[in-house]
Amino acid sequence: MNDEILVNITPQETRVAVLSAGQVQELVVEREASRGLVGNIYVGRVARVLPGMQSAFVEIGLERAAFLHVADLWEHRRSGAANGGNGNAVKPIEKMLAEGQPVTVQVLKDPLGSKGARLSTQLSVAGRLLVYLPQDPHIGISQRIEDEAGRTVLREKLKQLMPEGETGGFILRTLAEGASDDELRADIEYLRNLWRDVRERALGTQPPRLVYQGLSLAQRVLRDMVSADTEAVRVDSRENHQMLSDFARAYMPGLAAKLQHYTGERPLFESYNVEQEIEKALARRVELKSGGTLVFDQTEAMTTVDVNTGGFVGRRNFDETVFKTNLEAAQAIARQLRLRNLGGIIVVDFIDMDSAEHRTAVLEEFRRALARDPTRVTVSGFTALGLVEMTRKRTRESLAHVLCEPCQACSGRGQVKSARTICYEVLREVLREARAFNAREFRVLASPPVCDLFQEEESGALAMLSEFIGKPVSVQVESGYVQEQYDIVLL
Ligand SMILES: [Zn+2]
Repeated sequence: MNDEILVNITPQETRVAVLSAGQVQELVVEREASRGLVGNIYVGRVARVLPGMQSAFVEIGLERAAFLHVADLWEHRRSGAANGGNGNAVKPIEKMLAEGQPVTVQVLKDPLGSKGARLSTQLSVAGRLLVYLPQDPHIGISQRIEDEAGRTVLREKLKQLMPEGETGGFILRTLAEGASDDELRADIEYLRNLWRDVRERALGTQPPRLVYQGLSLAQRVLRDMVSADTEAVRVDSRENHQMLSDFARAYMPGLAAKLQHYTGERPLFESYNVEQEIEKALARRVELKSGGTLVFDQTEAMTTVDVNTGGFVGRRNFDETVFKTNLEAAQAIARQLRLRNLGGIIVVDFIDMDSAEHRTAVLEEFRRALARDPTRVTVSGFTALGLVEMTRKRTRESLAHVLCEPCQACSGRGQVKSARTICYEVLREVLREARAFNAREFRVLASPPVCDLFQEEESGALAMLSEFIGKPVSVQVESGYVQEQYDIVLL
């Protein structure tokens, strides 16, 4: 019972930190501007039916009309299933939709560039453990629950829990695998209430109108991240605390008491040291208490983590020091992977250990630390080269992807050409332009470090060039230029 969840809300973004024993374990940031429309349900109006393309444009109140293909019509899917998956026997779209007709639709794909959103009339709303399919009396199970016996048990369990007279169906999500009856019952209850509200909103409404919006990050925190271990969810905005309390009372009454409005003097994320942890989770290098360091490198293909000892390690205690550093690294890496939300292939290069016993102990410690991560991970043993390979399921984007962009100064390479390299580039360029154009004079605009070189160590080279081309060459500092940036002006 010592987990805390901190929610920092501004009109532009929501930031969430999960703390365990006072230490930040997970960070999630959602920006209003990048919140998509997928999952939103609208009552729209059919704008045009295109029999040739077996599709229709539907007005849902966005800039561009949205696109609905016959294959995404609920009737089509249903009859397709009834005909053994062969959807050809279904009616053409012009027999099912007419211009001006109101139609309830859900967004499958966000609009992109000149393309409108893509819609479906097969509706669903997701809970924590289940997805509710109000039109379809079918029980499905996530493909990712692989155990065949477990699938049968789950299906039976859900059938028992289904309320009398329920005409819709459910899909069991991966998390449902270990859920108790009470948890499943609560999710069924939540989804049926949610759907009742959506239907009420849709009834007799004037299209186009949004009738269901996918949950905000703060709402998803309540639905997905609060557990029995969560002591409190602290929200720093009065208005949002009120809204979340209403949401919790309506759908998750057990959680309402955990919601607290944070009114401290200092900003919430500062008083819990979260800002500092965010900075650390964006850094390439992480310092360990033992003096060692971790170095994280994220490439397209994988993430590598290099473990180093700190400074001088005495010969006598060498093995022990390495062992201790690796043990500390194992814990720190597991925590950083979760904080940074790194997914895909991860390769860890622990410091070499001679003792097989030590290697086993480090690997065990690493596995134990990773077990606290709710995201699925698999870890191999040491490879022939002494590396530990692992995978971590990709979920949201990594923290760095949400908060950062490639460095403009180095175009993301992590290195810039040296000032001297740029000096010589400038000299070649002036020579090339002197041959191509007939200017009176050349002026070089460059960054301060490049200009410093031209005025001191490389002033001779500049003078030689000027003499060689028979034209004056002057240098002007542009303090706003990054090191690799320069311009040559012809006067
Ligand atoms: Zn850079």
